[in-house]
Amino acid sequence: MLSVKRILVTGGGGFLGSHLCEKLLSKGHEVLCADNFFCGNKNNIIHLYGSPRFEVIRHDVTFPLYVEVDEIYNLACPASPVHYQRDPVQTLKTSVHGAINMLGLAKRVRAKILQTSTSEVYGDPAVHPQRENYWGNVNPIGIRSCYDEGKRAAECLFADYHRQHGLRVKIARLFNSYGPRMHPNDGRVVSNFIIQALTGKNLTVYGDGSQTRSFCYVDDTIDGLIALMDKTDDGFIGPMNLGNPTEFTILELANLVIEMTGSKSKIEFRDLPQDDPARRKPDISLAAELLKWNPSIALIDGLQATIRHLKGVIES
Ligand code: NAD
Ligand code: UDP
Ligand code: UDP
Repeated sequence: MLSVKRILVTGGGGFLGSHLCEKLLSKGHEVLCADNFFCGNKNNIIHLYGSPRFEVIRHDVTFPLYVEVDEIYNLACPASPVHYQRDPVQTLKTSVHGAINMLGLAKRVRAKILQTSTSEVYGDPAVHPQRENYWGNVNPIGIRSCYDEGKRAAECLFADYHRQHGLRVKIARLFNSYGPRMHPNDGRVVSNFIIQALTGKNLTVYGDGSQTRSFCYVDDTIDGLIALMDKTDDGFIGPMNLGNPTEFTILELANLVIEMTGSKSKIEFRDLPQDDPARRKPDISLAAELLKWNPSIALIDGLQATIRHLKGVIES
């Protein structure tokens, strides 16, 4: 029998957060979404407003929050390089002060708390594919550091609140996730390429396009996050990789998007941004073993759904 939980989702107005709120509501839970809408969008969650089990508060997690909940999913943080580099100090504060406040809240109400960390904690990885026991290769003072080091500090805080205060914590390391409700202008590669292809602009490939990423469809990501939170063995805190292990070069992705949209767009090469990781692919054997989780949606199917969504955004 389902026990209804009161669940706080920070960053619930963003891409992943909105899908998470929707999924948790469909499971019968009460969901409180806290977002300062720095880069989220109310349109992502407006369809949930009619539910009496859904509530939204405009709140910045760098400030304390006093509510009563059973579980917390801490997603609040800009995720695309364009957004997190717009106000790097605020990005770092969001990861660090936000983690402290949400952990303090979890401690007071004895809630279980999950952190959405990232493959960026591996930096430009010297080990391939990346396993959870790899400590990473991160520039501490570069343009990506506000995000990478903020997320690393947050992982440290989660582990220490667990050791020091006995908190029930979970750390998920998400690899590139994509799907409907990605912000059309947030500069991430999947949304950029699709928008460019649909509007007849050149696809902007940074560097020579030989760098790789592994793209996980949002539904798979959300299933993984909930499975990790619900894992009953509370001694397990992670970190756990969640991502799709099928690796593509950025050039392959560009060509696939052109083909799937039937676009006449061409590819245009631009400078590679500083510290852009050359390779990224998760080893997900831990998630497969402990959660029986494996992504099931192939890139071509996920791209189809994302193209449909972004076509709708452009038309409206
Ligand atoms: P997103 O940018 O779409 O959503 C983030 C949300 O957090 C936005 O709604 C934003 O307004 C909100 N936010 C930012 N700062 C805040 C603050 N100080 N207080 C309250 N809300 C704040 O990003 P996303 O793709 O949905 O990512 C969600 C989480 O997952 C992030 O923590 C991100 O680091 C992590 N993650 C995402 C990916 C991915 O590929 N999407 C990969 C790795 C990790
Ligand atoms: N906090 C919060 N909500 C709560 C409890 C705490 O936002 O319900 C914040 C509060 O701002 C505090 C932080 O969490 O500074 C860390 O709390 P903790 O109890 O761990 O430490 P302390 O209060 O001693 O700083
Ligand atoms: N990228 C690109 N063209 C774009 C946007 C991104 O070639 O218009 C590249 C970027 O340099 C990186 C990869 O695509 O190598 C993924 O970028 P994204 O910003 O989506 O996520 P990241 O994994 O770098 O955080």
